[in-house]
Amino acid sequence: MAERRLQVTGRLGLHARAAANLVRVAGRFQSSLTLHRLDSDVEADAKSILSILTLAASRGTELRVVANGVDEQEALDAVVGLFSRDFDETERQDLERSSSATQELRCKGLGVSDGLVIGRVLRLQDGTREVYRAQIAEADIERERRRFRAAVRLSRRQLEAIKDRAEKELGRGHAYIFDAHLLFLEDAKLTRDVEDYIVKQRSNAEWAAKVVGDRLLSIYTQINDEYLRERGSDIEDVIQRLLANLTGEGPKYPNLSGDAVIVARDLLPSTIAELDLNHVKAIATDTGGWTSHMAIIARGLGLTAVVGLNEFYGRTRTGDQIIVDARRGEVILHPDPATVEEYKFTSGEHRDIAATVAGAVESGPVTTRDGVSIALRANVELPHEFQAVRNFGACGVGLFRSEFLLSRPGLMHSEEDQYQAYRALAEAAGADGAVVRLFDVGGEVGSEVKERERNPALGLRAVRFNLRNKEVMRTQVRAILRAAVGGRLSLVIPMIADVADVRLAQKVIAEELESLGSAKIPSAKVPIGAMIEVPSAVLTAEKIASEVDFFELGTNDLVQYTLAVDRGNDKVSDWFRTLHPAVLYGIQRTLEAAGAAGIPVIVCGEMASTPAYAVLLVGMGAIDLSMTPAMIPRVRAALAQIDTGEAREVAARCLGSATADEVEEIVRHEFRMRWPDLFPPRTLPKEPEPSA
Ligand code: PEP
Ligand code: MG
Repeated sequence: MAERRLQVTGRLGLHARAAANLVRVAGRFQSSLTLHRLDSDVEADAKSILSILTLAASRGTELRVVANGVDEQEALDAVVGLFSRDFDETERQDLERSSSATQELRCKGLGVSDGLVIGRVLRLQDGTREVYRAQIAEADIERERRRFRAAVRLSRRQLEAIKDRAEKELGRGHAYIFDAHLLFLEDAKLTRDVEDYIVKQRSNAEWAAKVVGDRLLSIYTQINDEYLRERGSDIEDVIQRLLANLTGEGPKYPNLSGDAVIVARDLLPSTIAELDLNHVKAIATDTGGWTSHMAIIARGLGLTAVVGLNEFYGRTRTGDQIIVDARRGEVILHPDPATVEEYKFTSGEHRDIAATVAGAVESGPVTTRDGVSIALRANVELPHEFQAVRNFGACGVGLFRSEFLLSRPGLMHSEEDQYQAYRALAEAAGADGAVVRLFDVGGEVGSEVKERERNPALGLRAVRFNLRNKEVMRTQVRAILRAAVGGRLSLVIPMIADVADVRLAQKVIAEELESLGSAKIPSAKVPIGAMIEVPSAVLTAEKIASEVDFFELGTNDLVQYTLAVDRGNDKVSDWFRTLHPAVLYGIQRTLEAAGAAGIPVIVCGEMASTPAYAVLLVGMGAIDLSMTPAMIPRVRAALAQIDTGEAREVAARCLGSATADEVEEIVRHEFRMRWPDLFPPRTLPKEPEPSA
């Protein structure tokens, strides 16, 4: 056994980076190597980074290093040498090596919104602020540096206060993490590099802090160690604090550079709503599916999107070059120059195609070959899309997902703001009117629900959330009833499970109408509908139909809940089968129940946005479809050339099937036979992969 006493002399203590070097050195020897704190019983295995970091050995800590084994003396000498050289502070090298790791990397995902984009990565963490790049004038460089230093000072004061409190309330052991945060904050690697970046790149301080922070993070993400990743999240935490303090104190820079590709693990729809859409070109996320809200919004806004990229986010850094190819469901990080050239050529082609589609636009309902009139409405999420209602010839707005008015979780809009938004909506929708859905939100909105639910899709969502947060609901209802004076508005209640939900919601609406009336505030009664998207609502559709003015069929959730498949989880996307017979029965049953009660049904899930599926819906009796505005011309072109009798025959065959595969095979076969020119193979369900 060989041993030596040592003192940690590095300014940052035995921090994660130094610990990583120690692990590398220790790993070269067969002997065991342990570190013991002299002031406590804590000891650590020098070959495990996790173990080393639990020592929390700050500057001045005294340690005993013990080596035991065949090469114990060499091992001890190597470790002592490393301590004396202050752990070969090679972060600069690491940093540079990681920044130059620019090998082309291709990742497969699911293209959910068409297009091809060549741009630069802008990493977004959920729940954190987006950062814009601004080119600043030479004369403003000093100001940016001062802003940055002020943000560092403010962050330090905040962290010291947090640390003091943590020490008092939790004890020294728990407060050391804030020591680490303070050390990160004071590390010249951060502060000097940010200032250098500001000067050399003439960048605003926010962007500089983000780019440098991302680089530092990439050091941690390269090492596959959970604890280290947590240290990475400490850095992220510090950077976010800095950014919050920067944007809180200084001006905001709305001019995001023009080719941003948002890369995120997951993206809150509300985050998309906040982006500067003139500059964001595409989205690439680790999670998500075809019907996740982020995908729906991307389609609505015409933003190219690829989702389900698994561990892609961790491999990127803000500023990296990236190609997003939704047609192939692929992203390419650090593309080779040849790849960029090839894609530049194709992306030009794509733009032309997009322009032609947007060029020719008819409006009003479409009439099938046998004279059946079918309304084609628009699904709208954001006020940006109001213009699209007219541009694509929609019969008004079949579904306004009003929750996207809420700019970020926890932030409710005032009655007046909502009133203005619904008025603008009614105006954009015109004589065909618009259906406003009551907030379809889950636990992320509102101050009462702080904890994430274990099963949010089955939790306090939609109508349930509204009934538990009546003030939120009443505010929205009042705004809708007031806006209805100036235009044709209806209101739909999301995620109705049964008649009881309908009655409770109607009671609130009736109370608000009455209270507005007695206060002499102009308001109008509106038709009230129920979203049918939960199996229990399908099974009791006749009962619900007798108590509401109309139905909206939400096929996205109907698939999710009927098949028990999370619509946002890419791991189960193979089970998300829109053409599953169980889903088709549900749709047919709902349409029949509404027909018997004499109320209309608007089919508003993504199914209606897919031309072949729209034909099937018509075959089951649907005559009112609401979809992504940009898809209206294509659905119109398909429906104008079919005969509803034929569509009924195909639908009947599908309804007689036992599996989704069978239905898809029938659709491929029948559509090719009946309408060969109308439905080329890529518009039909994909052929199954040959089984191995
Ligand atoms: C649906 O569920 O099909 C629907 C239209 O609503 P959302 O996609 O917003 O849940
Ligand atoms: Mg829904």
